[in-house]
Amino acid sequence: MLNQQDDRRKIIKTLILAGFGIQLIGCTTPTKDDPIAKKNTEKVIDEIEQAIKTNNVTYLTNQDEKFDELATYFNRFTQKSPAIIALVMNADGISEAILHAKALKLPVAVKSGGHSFEQFSSNNGGMVINLSLLNKIEWLENNLVKIGPACLLKEMYDELLPKQRILPAGSCGTVGVGGLTLGGGYGFFARKYGLTCDNLIASTFVDGNGKIHELSDDHELLWALRGGGNGNFGVVSSFTFKTHPIPQHFSYTRFKAKNLDTERAKLLLETWFEYAHQLPEDCFSAFVLNGQSLTVLITHFEQESSELSNLISALTPICDSVTSKRNTNIADALKNYYGIQKPIYFKNASAGYYSTFEDVSGCIEQVLEKVVSTPGLIYQVNTLGGAINSSQHGSKSSYAHRNFEYLSELQTYWSEGQNQKRDNYLKEFEYIQNLFYENGNRAQYRNYPSIGFKMWDSAYFGDNYPRLQRIKQKYDRDNTIRHEQSIRS
Ligand SMILES: Cc1cc2nc3c(=O)[nH]c(=O)nc-3n(C[C@H](O)[C@H](O)[C@H](O)COP(=O)(O)OP(=O)(O)OC[C@H]3O[C@@H](n4cnc5c(N)ncnc54)[C@H](O)[C@@H]3O)c2cc1C
Repeated sequence: MLNQQDDRRKIIKTLILAGFGIQLIGCTTPTKDDPIAKKNTEKVIDEIEQAIKTNNVTYLTNQDEKFDELATYFNRFTQKSPAIIALVMNADGISEAILHAKALKLPVAVKSGGHSFEQFSSNNGGMVINLSLLNKIEWLENNLVKIGPACLLKEMYDELLPKQRILPAGSCGTVGVGGLTLGGGYGFFARKYGLTCDNLIASTFVDGNGKIHELSDDHELLWALRGGGNGNFGVVSSFTFKTHPIPQHFSYTRFKAKNLDTERAKLLLETWFEYAHQLPEDCFSAFVLNGQSLTVLITHFEQESSELSNLISALTPICDSVTSKRNTNIADALKNYYGIQKPIYFKNASAGYYSTFEDVSGCIEQVLEKVVSTPGLIYQVNTLGGAINSSQHGSKSSYAHRNFEYLSELQTYWSEGQNQKRDNYLKEFEYIQNLFYENGNRAQYRNYPSIGFKMWDSAYFGDNYPRLQRIKQKYDRDNTIRHEQSIRS
């Protein structure tokens, strides 16, 4: 990379001449003919060159070999094009990168696992702080575990499960611990042990001014990071979590129903709603309608209960088939849900939090009609509740939606070059988003963002938004850390 220093120097100079960095060096717009501005420009380039040589961070531009690899994200549909990638080694490197972005007046986005639906972990023409080298796991006393933000969920499970411990987290193997935790983080174990962010007890955090903070449990920043931390105030360089004993088994029951029309889909959904919220805390269930085909998944990891049997008994006569399995190897069981691991084209988004079927009854027929008539359009509802809704977690986190029993989402997938299919999906997607919005279903999950959400601030953060804005003002007044839906001070 160092042999490309001349190219890099040219690129940095172009950025500065394009207007970045002027305020820091306190001069008027630099032009080729202005000797003072030219001298100041050279000074900023010298500073950046110096930083390139430290051990804490390496700056890459698209002239560098590794750039494309580091700029690759899970969602190929939302690919962006940053000017500089800062590949950091540690919290000091993050701090240096933030200061240099400020010097260049570049916005900063933060990448851990790169699974943001809208690619809020990248930008066009700005700096991306790439945390991929911060992916280590370290055990502390009392079964606490310190995890780097770019550790992927499968790497986390690979380390914790053989030690007979679990951290409640998501199911997809290549999602990063960083983004998942900072937006909430739910999965199979959340109704028993809370969201991933509810298990966060300490963190190392670099704010938008480059200052490094060691956060303990009751720090206001830790409150903010538990659900409101995605690319808003600064960069987390490590998380400390409590862990829980691994369960003895992980079992599922899976129902299938095919060739559904709107009426049958509605009956199935209403039945599922009626029984699913009664499930004990060790259970999770998802209602997944893909065009005319339905899958209902129910998992549990403790003793079978009457509430679980009630849901199974209610669904059995109205579905086409049912399978179930008990697995005592938890690692093997979770691997079944790791999903696709390489980048794909898709549009996914939260489709509202609900408490009962009545919350959606005003629009659900139109929603289901659209889904059953559009093969490949997926409407999914997941159970929440249990420990997620405990008031104890509520007061300690900015995650705003503790009162709901269900979270729904929309998904569509296509292949490269299928532009007509994509455009059709996007049209139907927006149509359904509008139906829910007009029906009053406006609370949305931060980790399932959509650029199309109206009033996204209250949708994600509810009543916590003003407090989050005050924290933004305190730790990133210049709005250096930002993306399209980051908290505004
Ligand atoms: C296939 C798939 C499956 C999923 N399954 C689940 C699931 O089961 N449960 C669930 O809750 N969610 C799930 N999600 C959503 C997932 O939680 C979010 O997409 C999450 O934000 C991704 O985190 P990441 O680190 O991989 O992404 P990134 O794109 O790297 O980051 C996402 C956001 O967090 C910010 N961020 C990341 N790291 C830091 C940091 N260290 N400091 C400050 N800001 C940071 C980024 O700036 C960006 O705004 C899934 C997503 C996908 C694509």
